[in-house]
Amino acid sequence: MRRFNSEAIDREDLILAFRKGDPVRLAKAKGHCMLCKGSPVNDAGLCEGCFANLTDEEWNEARHWIEGRIA
Ligand SMILES: [Zn+2]
Repeated sequence: MRRFNSEAIDREDLILAFRKGDPVRLAKAKGHCMLCKGSPVNDAGLCEGCFANLTDEEWNEARHWIEGRIA
């Protein structure tokens, strides 16, 4: 099973989600992590646990949200 539930996105789609933006905004609006649906979420739409496990490539996309350049 690749997903925790049907609302969560696949890990392999995370970079795309950061680029598209809609999944991030939805996660923040609902207060549920994009990957695991945990809460609370940060400005990148992820919970603390998932955020701590980002790869360098994922972080490169996530930081635009964290640094407030996209909202
Ligand atoms: Zn999470």
